[in-house]
Amino acid sequence: MVLNIESLQSKTTTSLKCPICGFKGNCVKSISSDEIKRSLSDYFSSKPSDNFEVMDCDIFKCENCTLEYADPFVPGSDSFYNWVTTREDYYPSERWEWKYFTETFRKAASI
Ligand SMILES: [Zn+2]
Repeated sequence: MVLNIESLQSKTTTSLKCPICGFKGNCVKSISSDEIKRSLSDYFSSKPSDNFEVMDCDIFKCENCTLEYADPFVPGSDSFYNWVTTREDYYPSERWEWKYFTETFRKAASI
């Protein structure tokens, strides 16, 4: 998939409807693509490749349900996922819900 990043760049806005409840969300911060690359590089202790595509975005927070969401609300680029999914710590070795579902399925299977 090829994204036309120029056409998806965020317009300057201070409020945007929440994608979950439709209530008003307010812009709480703006993040540049350079900041995103730097944060990812620090987090994974690995520098993204030169063709790594991420875009500037604004983060909004819903006044009603407190959901935080990005504008533009689009998936990451192929180069982003190709890089991030090959980082050693990207996939967790354990998650709280795995234990919950395992126990739930075990109980259901024993009925
Ligand atoms: Zn909401």
